[in-house]
Amino acid sequence: MPVPGLGPYDDSNIFARILRGEIPCKRVYEDLWALAFHDINPQAPTHVLVIPKGRYVSVADFAASASDAEIAGFVRAVGKVAQDLGLEAPGYRILANMGDHAGQEVPHFHVHLFGGRSLGPMLARS
Ligand code: 5GP
Repeated sequence: MPVPGLGPYDDSNIFARILRGEIPCKRVYEDLWALAFHDINPQAPTHVLVIPKGRYVSVADFAASASDAEIAGFVRAVGKVAQDLGLEAPGYRILANMGDHAGQEVPHFHVHLFGGRSLGPMLARS
C-alpha cells in the first residue's frame, strides 16, 4: 500500500483531476504556478487549498524537486490568496500534511489555508 506523500506521482489523484478540469472545484485563484479552491469539507469558515500546477506528491517532493520559479510562484500565490480573501488583518493559518504521521490523504502537494475565526491551539492534544 503506497504511503501518500512518498513514491511516484499518481496522475489519477483527485487534485490532478481537478487541475485537468475533470472534476469541478470552487476556484478562488489561479495563475501560472498555482490553483486555489475551497476544501470540500471545510474545517474553518474559510478553508482553501492551494496546490502547485506541477506534479509533486508532497511538500518533501516539492522542496526537493521543484524549480526556484515554481517555489517562488507557489509561495507568492499562497500569500496573494490569503490577502485577497481578507485574511491578513485578522490572521490565518497555513498547514501542509506530509505522509503517514500527518495523515496526508491526497498525494498532490497542497497547502491548507484556514481563517475566519480564532483557530485555537496549533495541534490537538493527544
Ligand atoms: P490532506 O489530508 O491530504 O492534507 O487534505 C486533503 C484535503 O482535500 C481534505 O481537507 C479534503 O476535505 C480535501 N478534498 C478531498 N477531496 C476533495 C475534492 O474532491 N474537492 C475538494 N475541493 N477538496 C477535496
